[in-house]
Amino acid sequence: MPDFTEPAVFWSTAFFLFCGIFGRYLLFAAVFYWVFKVSFRHRFAEREVQNRPRRAGQVGREIGWSLLTSLIFTAIGMGLVLAWQMGLTRIYLDLGDYPLLWYVVSIPLVLFLHETYYYWLHRWMHRPGVYRWLHKTHHESITTSAWTSFSFHPLESLLQAVFIPAMAFLMPLHLSAIALILTIMTTTSAINHLNTEIYPRDFNNHWFGRWLIGATHHSLHHSQFRFNYGLYFTFWDKWMNTESPDFIRLFRQKTGPKKEAKIPSDS
Ligand SMILES: [Zn+2]
Ligand SMILES: [Zn+2]
Repeated sequence: MPDFTEPAVFWSTAFFLFCGIFGRYLLFAAVFYWVFKVSFRHRFAEREVQNRPRRAGQVGREIGWSLLTSLIFTAIGMGLVLAWQMGLTRIYLDLGDYPLLWYVVSIPLVLFLHETYYYWLHRWMHRPGVYRWLHKTHHESITTSAWTSFSFHPLESLLQAVFIPAMAFLMPLHLSAIALILTIMTTTSAINHLNTEIYPRDFNNHWFGRWLIGATHHSLHHSQFRFNYGLYFTFWDKWMNTESPDFIRLFRQKTGPKKEAKIPSDS
């Protein structure tokens, strides 16, 4: 392992990490934009969830906030790298160190715990005294896009950034499992903010699909504010009765064969 306390190694690793985090955000957002809003826009036009125009300068602001988020994720990530070097974490590199079954189980387990952390953090951030300090920035985007996916106030970014590193102190995690979890996080955030429903018809009844959050589900969070707090999965919203009563109808409308595109909004 290189000596990350060496300034040259530290800063080159930090630069590499930042490029990985911010570059991945830009790449995923650009690919989703190109596929669904440019290349196949006619095919997906009827699956636009909200039709109200985005605010002037919205995408530029979202990329700016996402840049700050990426810097914060990098800073926390470098703290994790230093802790790893000091032997304080349980990150492992040799797949043989733990049973392969653990590797497979560790990924959904961390996603489940992350979901639980974010759902309750998110509900707390919607409390009036907390909302304007931490979470208002994200909700300035009412009609979202893939560019919204990292658009958070720095304090919210910090609260989000600490979770995965905290897991690396508590349970053995292979480095590639962490990388995979972070890639799933970026992908689902882009899908959920895309404002184009990409899941197939009847996915809301599918044994697995019904537990996945998509663009319609999360768009209703941005338009209605008091429903759909989940991150990857719908189960906390279902269990706590915070899933929007408009979700099923809107999902069917957006994925159905023909359309009367009416946007529900009680905001
Ligand atoms: Zn929110
Ligand atoms: Zn959002």
